[in-house]
Amino acid sequence: MTWREGLPRPRGRLLFDEPLAPLTWLRAGGRAEVLFLPADEDDLAGMLAALPVEVPVTVLGVGSNLIVRDGGVDGLVVRLGGRAFGEIEVEPEVSRVVAGAAVLDAALARAAAAAGVGGLEFYAGIPGTVGGALTMNAGCYGGETGDWLVVAWGVDRAGQRRVFTLADFAYGYRHSQVSPDILWTGAVFQGRPGKQLDIEASMAAITRRRETTQPIREKTGGSTFKNPPGHSAWRLVDEAGWRGKAWGGAMFSPLHANFLINTGQATAADLEDLGEAVRADVQSKFGVTLEWEIKRIGRRQ
Ligand SMILES: Cc1cc2nc3c(=O)[nH]c(=O)nc-3n(C[C@H](O)[C@H](O)[C@H](O)COP(=O)(O)OP(=O)(O)OC[C@H]3O[C@@H](n4cnc5c(N)ncnc54)[C@H](O)[C@@H]3O)c2cc1C
Repeated sequence: MTWREGLPRPRGRLLFDEPLAPLTWLRAGGRAEVLFLPADEDDLAGMLAALPVEVPVTVLGVGSNLIVRDGGVDGLVVRLGGRAFGEIEVEPEVSRVVAGAAVLDAALARAAAAAGVGGLEFYAGIPGTVGGALTMNAGCYGGETGDWLVVAWGVDRAGQRRVFTLADFAYGYRHSQVSPDILWTGAVFQGRPGKQLDIEASMAAITRRRETTQPIREKTGGSTFKNPPGHSAWRLVDEAGWRGKAWGGAMFSPLHANFLINTGQATAADLEDLGEAVRADVQSKFGVTLEWEIKRIGRRQ
């Protein structure tokens, strides 16, 4: 019996050989050996506890910072969704927001604003989920997850529930020190009292700015590379001559030179190989190492 045949029957859904491209912003890449959509945290914990230890586990948010390689992802791929992971509760009297890991960052920002909770409006500019934000220390326009997080919880690879306070994350730039084995299921954010109209005006300004500076209607993965200390990644890509240059179906956006886009039929290999070509070129021209911000998962073909 294979590990797939021995899986317990969850209350959520199990899908075999499921294409992952539709679950990513870049719309490229292969299949999940098994895709699991848990019904709730108990369902997730039960599955992980029953899963043989040698089976790898990968968790997806909405794939807004992700390349799934063309050979697909071995093992169990978990995607959180539905009511159990999508709830938002705002406590206006203490300016706190409790959110499930599948809540979209922009929905969190809107719910906080509607209740007069400020500070979290930067999330209006990030198209990921709370789970992705916890892992990536997502941020923009002067705010980032580590500035506002109080506590987060999730389930580890063995199916045990775990709780982490902000200090445990030891956040750096788009990086957390918590083991990647944790699958986040929820978090609490501490905002500050504000006026709904002011907060909404600042969210609208963030949205306008993004629309004119980022290719947000393209198939993209957001910032491809982290900004190296003392440099802007987009400027290095641009000055090395890669802005708007086609590579198979992949390209660095003419609008924002650090945004990798799929211009139509890119494979994940087109996207990753273009990124690697740019890294090598920037290294040789300017002596600067570009580090991927986009996470790359799975096997090449
Ligand atoms: C147009 C565009 C603009 C963007 N602008 C910004 C920006 O301004 N600032 C910014 O920081 N980012 C930006 N991004 C990148 C992206 O939105 C963020 O990194 C976001 O936090 C990723 O969330 P996600 O849910 O899409 O995660 P995914 O892309 O699905 O996954 C990213 C990582 O998070 C992990 N992860 C996801 N969910 C969980 C979970 N529940 N538990 C454990 N790990 C999890 C995944 O395993 C993976 O390692 C942008 C992306 C796009 C497409």
